[in-house]
Amino acid sequence: MTGDARGIVIVYTGDGKGKTTAALGLVFRALGRKLPVAVVQFVKGRWKTGERVFAEGLTGLDFLTLGEGFTWEGDDPERHAAAARAAWVRARELLAAGRHAVVVLDELSHVLAHGFVPCEEVLAALASRPPATTVVVTGRGAPSPLVAAADLVTEMRAVKHPFERGVKAIAGVDF
Ligand code: ATP
Ligand code: MG
Repeated sequence: MTGDARGIVIVYTGDGKGKTTAALGLVFRALGRKLPVAVVQFVKGRWKTGERVFAEGLTGLDFLTLGEGFTWEGDDPERHAAAARAAWVRARELLAAGRHAVVVLDELSHVLAHGFVPCEEVLAALASRPPATTVVVTGRGAPSPLVAAADLVTEMRAVKHPFERGVKAIAGVDF
């Protein structure tokens, strides 16, 4: 990290596909600049994703799947809430430590939209982060205080998705 670098807060939200993909594209770019990057995934997917497999072989990238046992499936909201909160505590520590130039908080908006973590806590952590750190928050339903606090907000709008025609998720495209 260079001393004069300034970080920004980026939010990718909306119902259209491309939020996590956009964040991963930014990760690709930052790694090309030899910047240390962390990706924290708040939702443990059903599948081993291509990005997680690829991340294992990369230096300069810490890839954490913190939503262990936490999926959007199942019917125990309290367990989901506890896992989401624990993941947030770790993500906040990582952000405060300042070891990474870019920190991606994947699906944090979804966690906030469910009320599992108070938005004020996230805003406080963003405000007190090391100034050189760029943070990317993805997920549907980004709360308006987060949108207001961000420097860059892009909303993915769903125009068409093959899922509507019954096409299942595709390896290498969706996961
Ligand atoms: P991606 O990870 O592909 O960039 P995303 O992060 O924008 O997608 P999420 O809300 O995290 O989207 O949902 C992840 C999964 O849901 C992906 O498999 C994606 O293809 C699928 N998905 C995203 N948008 C839609 C949509 N509008 N209709 C149906 N499925 C969708
Ligand atoms: Mg996503």
